[in-house]
Amino acid sequence: MGKVKAKDILKPKVDLDAVTLPPNWYENMIKEKKDAEEKARKEELARIQKIKCPSCKSTSKEHVEKRNDNGIFGPGYSSWIVDEYFVCNKCGTMFKDMEKRKNIIRKK
Ligand SMILES: [Zn+2]
Repeated sequence: MGKVKAKDILKPKVDLDAVTLPPNWYENMIKEKKDAEEKARKEELARIQKIKCPSCKSTSKEHVEKRNDNGIFGPGYSSWIVDEYFVCNKCGTMFKDMEKRKNIIRKK
């Protein structure tokens, strides 16, 4: 049996000098992520604005969110939505975001 050489087992060393990344690649990555989140948030707001009251077709409504939290004050605090609905400002009808509900039903 011949001698086993270390270089046959160990992975070849990566020459880091040969690896180049664009300047500010990390900042760019963070920025892209933030921009995508911001875009999604704006799209959601625009979608909500267009939702009409099922009774009077008014788009004037209040978005009610009921939240639960983990009871921690200060760092570590987190809260989540347990229920949300709209109340029409014109006729007082309470209604759900059906588009969101359809997505929830589809996932089940
Ligand atoms: Zn209404």
